[in-house]
Amino acid sequence: MTAQAQTKEFQAETRKVLDIVIHSLYTERDIFVRELVSNAADALEKFRHISLTEKPEFDAHVPLEISIKCNNKKHILTITDTGIGMTAEELEANLGTIAHSGSGKFLAELAESAKKDVSLIGKFGVGFYSAFMAAKTVKVQTRSWDGSQGHEWFSDGNGTYTISPCDGLHRGTKIIMELKEDAQEYAEEFTIERIIKQYSAFIPFPVKVDGKKVNTVEAIWTRSKSEIKDEEYTEFYKFIGNGYDEPMLRFHFSADTPLAINALLFVPKDNFESIGLGRMDPGVNLYCRRVLIDQHSKSIMPEWLRFLKGVVDSEDLPLNISRQSLQDNALVAKLRRVITKRFLKFLDEEARSNKEQYVSFWKTFGIFIKEGVANDFEYQEEIAKLLLFESSATEAGVMTSLEDYVSRMKEGQKEIYYISGQSRTAAENGPYAEMFRKRGIEIIYTLEPIDDFVLSHLGKFDEKELRSADRADLRLPESTEKEEQKEQKEQLADAVQTSLCKWMKEILGERVQEVKPSHRLVDSPAMIVSVGGHITATMERILSSQNHGKHNPMTMGNKKDMEINPASPLIRKVADLRVKDQDFAKELAEQIYDNAMIQAGLLVDPQQMVSRSYRIMERMAV
Ligand code: ADP
Ligand code: MG
Repeated sequence: MTAQAQTKEFQAETRKVLDIVIHSLYTERDIFVRELVSNAADALEKFRHISLTEKPEFDAHVPLEISIKCNNKKHILTITDTGIGMTAEELEANLGTIAHSGSGKFLAELAESAKKDVSLIGKFGVGFYSAFMAAKTVKVQTRSWDGSQGHEWFSDGNGTYTISPCDGLHRGTKIIMELKEDAQEYAEEFTIERIIKQYSAFIPFPVKVDGKKVNTVEAIWTRSKSEIKDEEYTEFYKFIGNGYDEPMLRFHFSADTPLAINALLFVPKDNFESIGLGRMDPGVNLYCRRVLIDQHSKSIMPEWLRFLKGVVDSEDLPLNISRQSLQDNALVAKLRRVITKRFLKFLDEEARSNKEQYVSFWKTFGIFIKEGVANDFEYQEEIAKLLLFESSATEAGVMTSLEDYVSRMKEGQKEIYYISGQSRTAAENGPYAEMFRKRGIEIIYTLEPIDDFVLSHLGKFDEKELRSADRADLRLPESTEKEEQKEQKEQLADAVQTSLCKWMKEILGERVQEVKPSHRLVDSPAMIVSVGGHITATMERILSSQNHGKHNPMTMGNKKDMEINPASPLIRKVADLRVKDQDFAKELAEQIYDNAMIQAGLLVDPQQMVSRSYRIMERMAV
């Protein structure tokens, strides 16, 4: 200490922060390096700005960079920058009080959560004072860009600090930290290098650790699209995604208003969830001016977009926002909305202009889009435009969007129809699709188990109701074709029909609510339809399978009717047999019911069904 050294007391609030930093922050110590490197980068940025307007002469030749020295013998870590530096007054104002520092704003919140959960504070950025998480003493040697006298600030964090003149300094700031006994790893090169790569990889100035530049990948998201080569994008993707593959799609988006945003998002090649590697962590990192705020951020994109990798950078975010408060931060919510909408629009354009590419995206990541439709009400309408399905209007394996379906709807058709099936052939040949085929009405085939849930959550598309074709109350638009009337098949008389239905209901008992003549079956003898509720047969099958084959309580209220086809030769035969051979007629009725259940994708008792069908076959063979 020189004769000119002045001892000063920290402002009361600063002492409070220091106290928390020194005594409560054991976890996430790493972030002190991020804070100090960010300050250095800020100082360099400020100098770059000043040098444009003021043309300073002092130390004008000194290159703009951050250099870090690790002395693992003496356990000293030194971080030097060639930025604007500080005068004595600035030193006092900036490091003696927290009035200017960003940490001031968060002090209240910090002290509040300190009471609740000490480990949470580690998630805050506490600015310069975080140095005391790892250091027992901190020396700051600094000289302002204007070339005035340099100074040294010194403190052990215990209430006071000193400021004294210091000669022989260049422009900028040097922070010398004598590390605590349990923090000596921070004088190891590889530790510092690891932290820089994690948090400060994209600082726009060289960061050298013991002379070696460690930030080698550029923050390309801040550059204009036209200047970036494909290889640069790919290199960047590999860096942030820790991967070796190339991305499937990329979306680079910048805006100045209403928020300053630079976003660079990638869709990877593979979906690791689908190959059973468990639920993915979100892959988008949140930055503020190239400094990492939240890695694998849960807040910046909706959950169903967790397959994306990339960065979102916004200058409007405060650097030392806590990860906790990110979740309910209004600004973050706004960012998320803007980026999600733009990304959905990008996918929509991709689907229109680059169908083949989009279909391969769909095959890999369509499941996430469906999850979005089912769970995320906020964007449901937009996401629904991205859905693809096979339909009776497409070749096998070819897909169509709901929008295209609507554009092909017939006059008078007010609803969108779908039917599930375990395969396209099953859906096409089942009893439900036959009258659609006959009337030339398009029907969507929902071939994935989740599809019916998704469509029933969606409810409507483009103001048109989405209707499962196995619903009892389905009313198709009146057929305009005269021919249909002409080729009327021979039918049962009304009275016979009524008594047959009544008899079948007696046989089937509680298994069905009602048996009634069908207005829509063409060739099949019978079908099962669901009455009320929003649960389709497929949904019921899935719910039951989750319940080990027993009926799931959720589906209990789901009543079913059986519709029979009065024009079917088999049904007419049963009506005949009823009089001649009650017992056999009964076996046939049961078998017809089981077959209809199977076609609906529902459970039957296989043992009973098989024995019965053998009995029927034996009878045929005589
Ligand atoms: P914040 O960075 O949020 O302002 P900090 O506590 O990190 O808060 O820093 C407080 C202030 O100290 C900064 O605003 C800046 O004015 C000054 N400062 C810190 N580090 C440096 C540096 N390396 N060079 C110049 N000024 C600095
Ligand atoms: Mg700072």
